[in-house]
Amino acid sequence: MYSPYVIHIGPSCCGCGACVRQCVRDNFALAGDRRTSDSAPLDDRDGGGCAATDDRAEAKKDYVCVGCMACVKWCPTHALIITPAKPVSAYIRAR
Ligand code: SF4
Ligand code: SF4
Repeated sequence: MYSPYVIHIGPSCCGCGACVRQCVRDNFALAGDRRTSDSAPLDDRDGGGCAATDDRAEAKKDYVCVGCMACVKWCPTHALIITPAKPVSAYIRAR
């Protein structure tokens, strides 16, 4: 399926999993998936703390991003950038 927005994950990702929990479209997974039932998730509102795990966020194959920016809002390390899949000018021309 076509995704109108593209997810970019930068090197500052610390694997906290906030984007995995917050994405309305379930677009993220943690690479290396070391999450276990006894690893309590961080509180996303605790002031930007980060788990500093060996995990890293990955965008799932065939994700569809709707550009809500929830992941960007909650990412404590500012690792996420969401961009339109097409240049804005292309949208304007198509109207
Ligand atoms: S919220 Fe940010 S730091 Fe946390 S796993 Fe997602 S991209 Fe990485
Ligand atoms: S912008 Fe919204 S839909 Fe797109 S990856 Fe982030 S939380 Fe998910």
